[in-house]
Amino acid sequence: MKALDELTFDNRFARLGDAFSPHVLPEPLDEPRLVVASKAAMALLDLDPAVAETSVFAELFGGHKLWAEAEPRAMVYSGHQFGGYTPQLGDGRGLLLGEVYNEAGKHWDLHLKGAGMTPYSRMGDGRAVLRSSIREFLASEALHALGIPTSRALCVIGSSTPVWREKQERGAMVLRLAHSHIRFGHFEYFYYTKKPEQQAELAEHVLNLHYPECREQPEPYLAMFREIVERNAEMIAKWQAYGFCHGVMNTDNMSILGITFDFGPFAFLDDFDAHFICNHSDHEGRYSFSNQVPIGQWNLSALAQALTPFISVDALKEALGLYLPLYQAHYLDLMRRRLGLTTAEDADQQLVERLLKLMQNSGVDYTLFLRHLGDEPAALAVARLRDDFVDLAGFDAWAEQYKARVARDGDYTQEQRRERMHAVNPLYILRNYLAQNAIAAAESGDYSEVRRLHDVLTRPFEEQAGMEQYAQRPPDWGKHLEISCSS
Ligand code: AMP
Ligand code: MG
Repeated sequence: MKALDELTFDNRFARLGDAFSPHVLPEPLDEPRLVVASKAAMALLDLDPAVAETSVFAELFGGHKLWAEAEPRAMVYSGHQFGGYTPQLGDGRGLLLGEVYNEAGKHWDLHLKGAGMTPYSRMGDGRAVLRSSIREFLASEALHALGIPTSRALCVIGSSTPVWREKQERGAMVLRLAHSHIRFGHFEYFYYTKKPEQQAELAEHVLNLHYPECREQPEPYLAMFREIVERNAEMIAKWQAYGFCHGVMNTDNMSILGITFDFGPFAFLDDFDAHFICNHSDHEGRYSFSNQVPIGQWNLSALAQALTPFISVDALKEALGLYLPLYQAHYLDLMRRRLGLTTAEDADQQLVERLLKLMQNSGVDYTLFLRHLGDEPAALAVARLRDDFVDLAGFDAWAEQYKARVARDGDYTQEQRRERMHAVNPLYILRNYLAQNAIAAAESGDYSEVRRLHDVLTRPFEEQAGMEQYAQRPPDWGKHLEISCSS
């Protein structure tokens, strides 16, 4: 276990030079204090969890202090936002402090979000508010616990620094960890600004550091793009299977590693709703829940365009063609497991679709339905869950089909079925209203609720004594909270 001053840096991205990321120093927050830290994320850096409580920790991640070997930089990138190309974005309020490698030899980017103005701040103030920092922290750690690929979060540091949004709020910083912060938009930036040499340097960098196994392939860049397609298909299948809505799937928010990245107005579904739009500013529903699937492919096409200097158009198209079938295979596999099935039948897709339609029409809680489906033998479980549906005849027909399917599936005890189903069906998810309660308490200086909620969400599949209130449907006030991009 390491102390804070024992981290080992190796700033590989910084070595690409100023054209990729100019040097910028963090602007400290006033009166920095620890709001919450993730012990599991600290372990990724081999950090002793006790250091989170020290004042140096809040000073380091509140922008007051820096390691001598850190090299804080703002990355430049661009991207397609809501379908339109923005020629220059970049880290407007976050800094890559440096790359740390742990004892297992894994590199982690330390990215400090909310660290002040940079050359890419445009009209912004370079800050992040406490509310959005807590949301990013909780979401990163909750998605990870569900097995969904994501950036991680080490901590949130709060402060007394005033920050203006619709009203006055307080500034905060979240320390984000990822193996890389390179986005689709990095490639788009060098492609559209016609800087082929730098674009080639970037491509080499990503290939060497993040997809070294693709080097062995006859066409390494094509192999790398295929791998990116595959990872995105799998990530989005997991979002859809667990009811996660990202909200701002612009290409500058898409990671080259296929991890969930840049949390804004995200939400987990409460009631199942395929048309759900979690981003209050998304008037057209471009990033609605069900649109995430085709948008994933749209974003990969935007990346493919930027890779045309390295890969033939025909090969790119062929690789893009892998996305939908891979997505469907991953999604169906997960949904079968969520339904407790161990074998595959052709009609399973239809079984899933019919259930979702019934849930949609009756406003059934997506997470709790699937959790409770495993509580008891299939016949008993569906009989208990029936009351949640308005279309009883429709549900009964589905239930008959499901019971018959379970009977054909295999010979196992209810004990085995429950264990298997509960291992993939969470009892606790990050519902917007739960985050909201934790934020309200934190804004008045009480961080205990954020910490408790974080703790519950790190073991989402395990029933936790005394935590029943985290496994409930939202109260009326918490059903349709408006979350915008202003963070
Ligand atoms: P986001 O919606 O957080 O993905 O941000 C989109 C772009 O706006 C990125 O280039 C951000 O760095 C920038 N940005 C967002 N909020 C701010 C802010 N408060 N100050 C400066 N830049 C910001
Ligand atoms: Mg972003």
